[in-house]
Amino acid sequence: MVDIKAYTLPKLEYDYGALEPIYAREMLELHHDKHHAAYVAGANRALENLAEARDTNDYAIINQLQKDLAFNLSGHILHSLFWRNLSPKGGGDPKGMLASTIKSSFGGTAALREQLSRAATSIQGSGWAALCFEPMGHKLIVEQIYDHQGNLGNAAVPLLVLDMWEHAYYLQYRNDKAHWVKRFWDLVDWSDVSARLESVSPLDLRLAV
Ligand code: MN
Repeated sequence: MVDIKAYTLPKLEYDYGALEPIYAREMLELHHDKHHAAYVAGANRALENLAEARDTNDYAIINQLQKDLAFNLSGHILHSLFWRNLSPKGGGDPKGMLASTIKSSFGGTAALREQLSRAATSIQGSGWAALCFEPMGHKLIVEQIYDHQGNLGNAAVPLLVLDMWEHAYYLQYRNDKAHWVKRFWDLVDWSDVSARLESVSPLDLRLAV
């Protein structure tokens, strides 16, 4: 049996109240401590169940186990990224290589904001909007994610994500999704997004045309 290193809930790098008034303390506390924690537990459970399936050679519910892994692990990854994308000192505009890559990929920051905002407010059901690095074309794209793992192309790496599940905004913004999205931009830590792009942009899929 392989040794499964369990995923753990990351600590926030700021206080629960640090993102107020844009993001209410109670909403952040519930979102991190309850919702995110549930995805961490779910990912660990899915890995344990898959290990057990291998050990017993019983794959009767393999489809459910693979789905559980995709959903919960993606939920864990997206939330871990989301917290790091946000900062009490967020807002403003991207700079440097990130700004120039946004310009070559979308035409400019305003166009990116508009596309990502529209993708976010138009999701049918629960999901996320994401700015991703696409390593085959070496460009940035926006993806509209269903739940945590659906409607995705393969290989693109998320750099900036926006949670559009009701638990992400409803306590404070009620049904006004557009208001949540508008205020989200004032929390975005572009230096974090920039560092992520610097980190993943050398990725080579060896598929280039
Ligand atoms: Mn969430």
